Order: sequence, then structure tokens, then C-alpha cells
Amino acid sequence: MASYSYILKFIVVGDAKVGKSSIISQLINHTFKNNYDLTIGAGFDTYIASINDKLLKIHIWDIAGNENFRSITRSYYRGSICALIVYDITNRDSFTNISTWLREIRDYGNNHIVILLVGNKSDQFENRVVSMEEGIYFALQNNIFFIETSAKANTNIDQAFMTVISHIYENI
Ligand code: GDP
Repeated sequence: MASYSYILKFIVVGDAKVGKSSIISQLINHTFKNNYDLTIGAGFDTYIASINDKLLKIHIWDIAGNENFRSITRSYYRGSICALIVYDITNRDSFTNISTWLREIRDYGNNHIVILLVGNKSDQFENRVVSMEEGIYFALQNNIFFIETSAKANTNIDQAFMTVISHIYENI
């Protein structure tokens, strides 16, 4: 049986339909679905990462973006050490709401949580309404990492998770 050096709790937050479930599904199953399934409460998956010959078991929690589930989802933040805050580059509201998600993570997550801001749906460049510079600027202002991804085209998905995991790994 595999033995793990660390088990990390990783949360993925952001408004409904920005692509959280698709990002996780692309990371774990290498698949993409065009149809939309609403996440109720929170979904849970396991991902195994290998860094410097050490095996890390990552518990990934997909936190529902729907307001109706907000009060129950706060309990999922506890003990989380890694987070993705996802917005959709074709949806201005989802970018506006990242401050709220950041505040929730800082209020309810671990004090040392490592956070990556993710602008998803980069394949939809013709419908882009949030520039890459805006994402970079927000991340710099708030001292968090930044990346743009496409769950559909499988662009930067592994890199997004590994940016956070390797940063944590260097500091444990
Ligand atoms: P969630 O509510 O944040 O978990 O969002 P989903 O993962 O369910 O995705 C919402 C919708 O956006 C679905 O119809 C997906 O097929 C679509 N979607 C997700 N990621 C991408 C992407 O990178 N590019 C494009 N074009 N569509 C995406």
C-alpha cells in the first residue's frame, strides 16, 4: 500500500458555472463535459502528486458557488491549506466576486493558506471581458498567485495545482 508523506486539504471556490468541477475533472480524469451539473454543498476528490520522490495525497473540495449553500460550505474551509479562487474570463460578475471569496478564505481557512487566482475559460478569447492584466493586478495587490486556464482545452490545469502544491511543499 502506498504511504504518503503528507495529506493536504485543497479547496476550489468561485461563483457557479465558472468551471470549478470541470477543472477538477480535467486534473483527475482528463475529461471535459460540455453539460452543466450543479454541485450541491461540496464535491470531494482525491489526487496524488509526486514531488521529489515523495507522495502527497491531496483531498480536493469543490465548494458550491450557489448562495443557497453558503452557510454549510463555510465548514469545509476549516483546515484547508491550499485554495484556488476561480473566475470566468467571459463573466465580469464572477471576477467582481473574487474579493468576497478571498475574504471568506482568509476568515475561515488556515492562516498559512496558499491561494491561486484562476481565470478560467481562456479558450474563449473572443468572448473575453476580463483582461489578463486585471487578474495579475488583483493577485499582486492581494499577495496571491495568478494563472489563466482552460478546463476545456486542458491548458495550465496541472500547472495550477502544482504551483500551489509545490509552494506548500517548500514550506513544510
Ligand atoms: P462550476 O459550477 O464552477 O463547477 O462549473 P462547471 O465545471 O460545471 O462548468 C460550467 C460550464 O462551463 C459547463 O457548461 C462547462 O462545460 C463550461 N466550462 C468549464 N470550463 C470551461 C472552459 O475552460 N472553457 C469553456 N469554453 N467552457 C468551460
